[in-house]
Amino acid sequence: MTAYPERVRIREVGPRDGFQNEPEVIATADKVRLIELLIAAGLKRIEVTSFVRPDVIPQLADGAEVLASLDRPDDVAFSVLVPNERGLEIALRGRDGFDEISVFLSASETHNRRNVNRSIAESLEGLERVLATAGAEGLRCEGVIATSFGCPYEGEVQPGRVLEIAERLAAAGCAEIGFGDTTGMANPLQVDGFFAGMRSALRPGGEGPELTAHFHNTRGQGIANAVAALGRGIDSFEASFGELGGCPVPSGSTGNVATEDLVSMLHEMGIATGIDLDGLLAASRAVQDVLGRPLGSHLLTAGPIDWAGGGA
Ligand code: ZN
Repeated sequence: MTAYPERVRIREVGPRDGFQNEPEVIATADKVRLIELLIAAGLKRIEVTSFVRPDVIPQLADGAEVLASLDRPDDVAFSVLVPNERGLEIALRGRDGFDEISVFLSASETHNRRNVNRSIAESLEGLERVLATAGAEGLRCEGVIATSFGCPYEGEVQPGRVLEIAERLAAAGCAEIGFGDTTGMANPLQVDGFFAGMRSALRPGGEGPELTAHFHNTRGQGIANAVAALGRGIDSFEASFGELGGCPVPSGSTGNVATEDLVSMLHEMGIATGIDLDGLLAASRAVQDVLGRPLGSHLLTAGPIDWAGGGA
């Protein structure tokens, strides 16, 4: 039988990945309240916001204000997404508000060009400078590689190419590498082989950067892919409450894996997360109320499994 990890870490990315990709601009006070609900539910890693140009992403223009309004418990890590050197400069003005940054690029040239208007080589050079500065500031760094499992424009993405990018990011100071299935193209068999290869190449002998899986549920395969990653010993995931979010390009690339769907499954499998599922569902219901429309998460519809048989 497959040996699954006993415990996994989950980074909640809804406040950034989710709020950025929903059409509405959520009020600052609502964002703060929702993040407080996530903290109360036991989430220990939260991607709070991003420092991007407000004319490009008005949804996150209040990032500094959100960070300044939150009380961060000692055992909770806040991260912010930083697109480039300019973004880091702006982020560092609120240096006290967060502990980690994430940087990102795509493993496919076309997706990277459409998303950030740079070649992969240009992105890597810029991010190496960002990571050097962030490291000198004592910030923990995660490098996220989008379209790691397939590209909507180019199709197949070679794992060898993803590995080269991961190695560059690790050498530049990333303590964690995230692999994003940005437009929901991965399948469990592919994920199994992918993480077998990445683990042996990036963590020989169990040492090396933390490897994190970031699946999207665009085609309903996010949870199946998470099981495949677990089976290869991956114990760090990113997910989004309510199944918020997606990717800005191409349009229609909706839906991160819902955190509550992932947490429910993990708990049913006897895998600890430290997260209180009822508390998390309260946060997801609250964000659904704020947006005023039903969200994609299954648990929001069905509720947690009741083994005592109290009826639905
Ligand atoms: Zn995502």
